[in-house]
Amino acid sequence: MTSDKLHLDTLVIHAGQEPDPATGAIMTPIYQTSTFVQSAPGEHKGYEYSRSGNPTRAALEACIAGIENAKYGLAFGSGLAAIDCVLRHFNPGDHIIVGNDVYGGTYRLFERVYARYGLKFTWVNLADLEAVKAAFTPQTRLLWLETPTNPLLSLADLRALADSAPQTVLVAVDNTFASPALQQPLNFGADIVMHSSTKYLGGHSDAVGGLLALNDDQLYDDLKFLQNAVGSVPGPMDCFLVLRGIKTLTVRMERHSANALQIARYLEDHHAVRQVLYPGLESHPQHDLAKRQMKGFGGMISIILDSPEAAKRMVSRTRLFALAESLGGVESLIEHPYSMTHASTATSPIAVPPALVRLSVGIEHIDDLIADLRQALE
Ligand SMILES: *Cc1c(COP(=O)(O)O)cnc(C)c1O
Repeated sequence: MTSDKLHLDTLVIHAGQEPDPATGAIMTPIYQTSTFVQSAPGEHKGYEYSRSGNPTRAALEACIAGIENAKYGLAFGSGLAAIDCVLRHFNPGDHIIVGNDVYGGTYRLFERVYARYGLKFTWVNLADLEAVKAAFTPQTRLLWLETPTNPLLSLADLRALADSAPQTVLVAVDNTFASPALQQPLNFGADIVMHSSTKYLGGHSDAVGGLLALNDDQLYDDLKFLQNAVGSVPGPMDCFLVLRGIKTLTVRMERHSANALQIARYLEDHHAVRQVLYPGLESHPQHDLAKRQMKGFGGMISIILDSPEAAKRMVSRTRLFALAESLGGVESLIEHPYSMTHASTATSPIAVPPALVRLSVGIEHIDDLIADLRQALE
């Protein structure tokens, strides 16, 4: 399939996927097998052992490459396993610059695991371009970006940040919140895109997975080597589920974004809500950047209530919005980051506000969602 000239709405359905040559099956089969028969030692049909390669996974890897406008894709057993693969590329003493508002698990992996192996991290406010530029040292090898951030929904200017990085520094973007339907970071000069496919790409809260997409041949060889050497690969069933989820990505993101914008406006007018953080609101400090950089504003909203008690009360009272970690599924979720997804940062410099509530707005009918939030805030 030549992906060059196809639109994203088409690529989400077809990238990396051809009818099965053996049977004509229109959907990529779940090749639930650990190994592949060889006709003579070393003579095989492209697959030897499923840690090294599996046809269902290969289709997903080609698919993420297609929809992120990349040459290569790599699939992992979780989003964190994908981040872990990137970090293993570096050596003790190497320096990494990270945005100071990131997914809690990213913070934990960097500071509690990789700091022990001699990687050095500097946490900066990505909205402050001068602060980022000042953080580069001769040892800096990676700039790790998340935009919009989890959970404060602040944005990083991808073009400006990629341009600010010296040639010797790789720029990686966690694109989980936006998905390629809203922004394709490689087009802004990033070197690596990372996804937790558990979220919008899978889209149905039924599989945990991670993906990388990139263009550089040598970097791909290095990361593919690590993927096999370390072995943190997804099973074929999970790859199938993510492939199926991606087929509806662009239509889902349209509805997620439309619902979230209406809810953000509703909450902005609600007396019990102190602040609404949503890039689609005119009141968001980076609304202009959001309009430049993103094709839509996504389904994630964070709000700040009057107190931690009010936040916990609200998340306990919703009926349609289920109280749960994770995000990006068709169903609406609500959570309290301080005690849930971001508990691992609670005593750190990047702790989130205790009165913060995060909503993952699903694709249900908008009136039902607003009615649920209204009664929860009563
Ligand atoms: C969930 C998430 C991750 C981690 O992905 P897992 O699939 O849970 O390992 C990384 N980054 C962001 C922004 C996330 O939301």
